[in-house]
Amino acid sequence: MTKLIFDKSIEIQENNFVPKMDLQGCADLADILPDKYQKNDLNLPNIPENVIVRHFIDLSKQNYCVDDGIYPLGSCTMKYNPKVNEMIARLPELCNLHPLQPNAQGSLQILKGLEYMLCEITGMDAFTLNPAAGAQGEFVGILMIKKYFESRGEKRDKIIVPDSAHGTNPASAAMAGYSIIEIASDENGRLPLDQLEFAMKEGDVAGLMLTNPNTLGLFDRNILEITKIVNENGGICYYDGANLNPMLGVCRPGDMGFDIVHVNVHKTFSTPHGGGGPGAGPVGVKQKFVPYLPIPRILENKNRDKGLYISYENKETSIGRVNNFYGNFGVLIRAYAYIRGLGPEGLRRVGQNAVLNANYLKSMLLEKYEVPYDGKCMHEFVIDAKLPNDVTAEDVAKRLLDYGFYAPTIYFPLIVHEAMMIEPTETESKRELDDFIDAMLEIYQEAVNDPEKVKKAPHKTNIGRLDATLAARKPHLRE
Ligand SMILES: *Cc1c(COP(=O)(O)O)cnc(C)c1O
Repeated sequence: MTKLIFDKSIEIQENNFVPKMDLQGCADLADILPDKYQKNDLNLPNIPENVIVRHFIDLSKQNYCVDDGIYPLGSCTMKYNPKVNEMIARLPELCNLHPLQPNAQGSLQILKGLEYMLCEITGMDAFTLNPAAGAQGEFVGILMIKKYFESRGEKRDKIIVPDSAHGTNPASAAMAGYSIIEIASDENGRLPLDQLEFAMKEGDVAGLMLTNPNTLGLFDRNILEITKIVNENGGICYYDGANLNPMLGVCRPGDMGFDIVHVNVHKTFSTPHGGGGPGAGPVGVKQKFVPYLPIPRILENKNRDKGLYISYENKETSIGRVNNFYGNFGVLIRAYAYIRGLGPEGLRRVGQNAVLNANYLKSMLLEKYEVPYDGKCMHEFVIDAKLPNDVTAEDVAKRLLDYGFYAPTIYFPLIVHEAMMIEPTETESKRELDDFIDAMLEIYQEAVNDPEKVKKAPHKTNIGRLDATLAARKPHLRE
């Protein structure tokens, strides 16, 4: 069992061969903290430097990450992140910059350059880089829609969200005060046009939030009809572009009739993510939504020789501030480096290989697993992992850990009962994919021959099968 840092506390004098910090004028904590926060009351452990280093290295070795192996977590786009982006983000000239430093033209040019590239990639007219995540990007987009209709004096209080959308879509719209009209997917996993038209005709719908490709990994072939119906009935089309990876260099939401799109920089443009961040969810808009973009924005001086400046214009029309300063700078630098490094051709290859890898994996798994909404998928697909002898998707996921893989997303999307959502990403080689396929097919055989082995998995991890509900509600963080 892992020892906590508190268990490793020793009398500090025992092992004190690392020079002490001797910052001049730095008071001892005990001198400046009020009595109630004094060190003794806080029960802080006494830890020499080598013990603390080993403690955290040990913890990091118990983790599984993209640098260990394939991480096929559907909907999350856990691709390998090139290390050169890390080096660039850590350049002292960039990471030691203070956001209030005046006239930091270089950093403003990186941000503006990223804006321009995202406009080109998605077919939009302007971008805000301020939102810190995809879900915040959605919220920003919905607030802009709200402000747009308020400024026109139009009362529209509903948003349409298909049931194949990401769960954050209805949540963002509801947070902004909208009620949600959910439309069920048809038998092909697409949005039924007649129902969309019926809902739009009521006249009280502000717009549609479409996740495309949707959470089944399917691109909606009716996309142009969909946006036409919404636009002709006075609604706004919002594109959840978190699944942009397969579309890179192939097609653009801006060309399909969408007015607003968010992208997930941490998914598509290779920022390490997981455990809650950090991320960035830039939002792109067509011209008519520019006045509503959050402040501040980075704009070009009319006299171009004077470079870029940070603008608080549009204060009256803007939805306001949504983040500190200008967004998650370090994440945005990585995205800039990634896009510049690959260039247009490289980005297109990313998209094409993400689709190729997913379709290869799907076709090989079809031997033993059911794919309820079949057809050519984009970057991910959903299998029904209900196996013989009542083996469930959870059992398969846990057994995969014994084979040394990270498990795919399970029980999402909700429209497939024993859903397992698999996204291999473009960065995995055929050999990695084949190893994963072998493991999945072997688990199928185990379900037939020795189901208890799968149902009781994992057997090789530090901690065995937990009660998932209790583990979330009453976590035991140590024995
Ligand atoms: C990940 C994801 C989101 C939410 O993005 P976060 O950055 O996690 O807030 C929204 N929509 C889709 C389709 C996603 O995959």
